[in-house]
Parts: sequence; structure tokens; C-alpha cells
Amino acid sequence: MYECSKQRMTDKIKTFSKFGDAGHGGITRYSLSPEDIMARKEFIKRMTAIGCEIKSDDMANLYATLKGTDPSLPAIVMASHCDSVKNGGNYDGILGVMGAMEVLETVATEGIEHKHNLVAMIWTNEEGSLYPPAMMSSGVVCNDYLPADIAQNFKKEDMLASRSILDPSMNFGMALDASGYKGDQSNRLNPKDYKAMFELHIEQGPILENDNKDIGVVTCVLGMINYRIKITGQADHAGTTPMQYRKDALFAAAQVLLYLHTELDKLDPELVYTTGEILCHPNVHTVIPDFIEFSIDARHEDPKVIEQVVEVIRNMPKEFAKCSVDYEVAWTRDTVYYDKQLVDFVQESADELGYSNRKINSGAGHDAQFASYMLPTTMVFVPSKDGHSHCEPEYTSPELCTKGASVLLNAVLKCDKAD
Ligand SMILES: [Zn+2]
Repeated sequence: MYECSKQRMTDKIKTFSKFGDAGHGGITRYSLSPEDIMARKEFIKRMTAIGCEIKSDDMANLYATLKGTDPSLPAIVMASHCDSVKNGGNYDGILGVMGAMEVLETVATEGIEHKHNLVAMIWTNEEGSLYPPAMMSSGVVCNDYLPADIAQNFKKEDMLASRSILDPSMNFGMALDASGYKGDQSNRLNPKDYKAMFELHIEQGPILENDNKDIGVVTCVLGMINYRIKITGQADHAGTTPMQYRKDALFAAAQVLLYLHTELDKLDPELVYTTGEILCHPNVHTVIPDFIEFSIDARHEDPKVIEQVVEVIRNMPKEFAKCSVDYEVAWTRDTVYYDKQLVDFVQESADELGYSNRKINSGAGHDAQFASYMLPTTMVFVPSKDGHSHCEPEYTSPELCTKGASVLLNAVLKCDKAD
């Protein structure tokens, strides 16, 4: 068993936390921003120093390749992203990049023999915080392999036209051209030249920490549904309409939300569901709202439980507080299971290193989820302190980050030997 260097990992965490440092413990590092370019330059500097060959593809995904003893074999890639959400933390995404770098640095400095080329990779624009949608580049690169209803949302020409949420005169294609990292489409990750993909990531939830486990052996990405609930009432003057004559769509929406939560609470305790978005029309304080639309996102591994959620939505009364209620499917996704053999490699590596671990599923989307439609893929999780993520208090100790990298290293070496 090999272990990665905590000292080297700590140095990387400190260094990468500077690129986009927002001044209060976290970073804002939008994809292809000057801060992202700084992180990419540091990646290239460190990977070149250990003899890696660097290339990029047409979506500016970056690949650092450390040659194996038989470069004719398909490569093994370790990938994540280095962009963040606004006022995000120092670990989401970049940990997977730092872990991949740490694996290659350990292999290079300790002269660990490997047949396959080993690749550290950066996915461009995973968060989609400046140029939506999230998981943009993996959506484009894996497009031919994705289910049709997902693939249609990631057509390259639409992605290039995605407008900056801060500056509508800018789009993703322009940012790509200006980045200096746009390479050739023939360099894309593909199932012919690559054998497997691993992604190290923070858990982004509280399960590992509460269970006192250092490593999460990820088995799947949860299936989910995303419905839009629509409530129609009648707009009227807020001062002149007595209460009994009102059809207040927002008041009705509050009751619909309560109804849904009460019904969904009766289903499997592992089901998670969220209303995170609400539109109110006309959203004026002197007008009784006449239209509300809100999202309901529900996730569970078992499609039967997801089907029960759909039943709850279908069977909900069509009228609440004199307002009519309707719904529409925004999109759905089946549970995506990771490659069984790779999951076993992660499990065996954690066990052999003597790190406490447990099986876990991923409630969040990751580039690995799209990659898994194209080639054997899996993930390794490390705990998130207090379960926080997508915020500045996000934290995973250097020790746990290093343990994650060590599991990644040994799993990759098992994959290298298994031909
Ligand atoms: Zn991430």
C-alpha cells in the first residue's frame, strides 16, 4: 500500500485557496475567470515539473498525462473541477484535482511502476455558476452516451451561447476563446483511449462525519425528479378586496407545500425533497398574487420510492384555497450506479490502508455521473465538516484530504494491474 504526502497536500490546499480568495475563508472562482486561469497555471506548473504532458480539448478541459510503461494501453483518468460557486469553499471540486495531482506526484517521486498512462484532469465549468448549466463540459463530452432527454440539454452550440449571469454581452463561447485553453476536440476524454475515471470529492453532507468514517465508498448517484407545481388564483387590489373574496395563489401555495411535505414524510425515511425555487406573480406588495410556480426536487436510490413521490404529486387535490393547482415534469434522472469493479477497488484500498469507511450514495450531481454513461467510473468521498458545502465554512482536514488521495492512488494502481 502506498500513502500520499500530507505535507504536499497541505501545500496544495494553501496554494489553491489563494486563487479567488474572497477574504473570509472561501473563494469565488468562476470557470474561465482570471482566478480559474491562475489555478490552471498552477496545475500545469506542478504537473509539468513531474514530467506530465499537458493538453486540452475543445471545451478547455485540461489533461496532464504521466506516461506508463505501456502507453498503448487506455489511460486511467482522475478528474474533478476547479471552478466554484459564488462565495464557495476551498474543497468542492478542487480537492479532486489536488488529489489527482497528489497521486501523480506520489507515483513520480516514489517511482511507482504502472503500465497505463495516468491522467490528472480538470473539467471546465462544473458549477455553471457564471455560465449555466452545471456539469456543462461533461454534458458536452459525454453527450453521445447520455439518455436523450438529458443529452438535449447539453448541445455544444447551446452551451457556447450560454450568457454570463453578470454580463449578458459575454457568453461561454467567448470566454472559451479568450481563455487560451481551448484545444482540439480529438483530445476529449473518450472510451477508446481511456479505461476508467475516478473522482475524489468532498461528501457535501453530514453522513460520514456523523458515522465517524474517514472514507465514503460511493456506489451510485441518486435518481431524482424535478417537478414544477403551478398555482393559479386571481389578482386583485390588496387594500380593497375583503379576505373572503380572495383567490390568493401564494396563500394556496403555502398549503400545497405543507400538503406535499406531510404526504412525502410518510414515505421512506431516506427520501430527500426540496422546494428551492419559487416564482410569484406579479410580486408586488399591493397586489394579491395570481400565480405561483415552485419547484419540488426529490431524490432516492430506489425507483419505486421515486414512483411513490410521483403518485403523491399526481393525487394531490386540484384545488387549494379556491386556487387551481397543476404540475409539470421539469426533468427526471434514474439512479446511476458506478462501476462495480472500480467500487470494489476503492473499498479494498480503504480497507487495506486501515481507514474507516462505509458505502454511501451521492445526492449531488458530479461530472463522474455523466462520465459513467461513457466509461467505467467511480467516486471516493471524504467527510465535510458539519456537512457544509457550497459555502465558505466548507472544510475537510489536510489529513482526511490526504487519506482520500491515498485511497484514490491505491484504487488507481489496482485498476492499472487488472487487465
Ligand atoms: Zn463539485
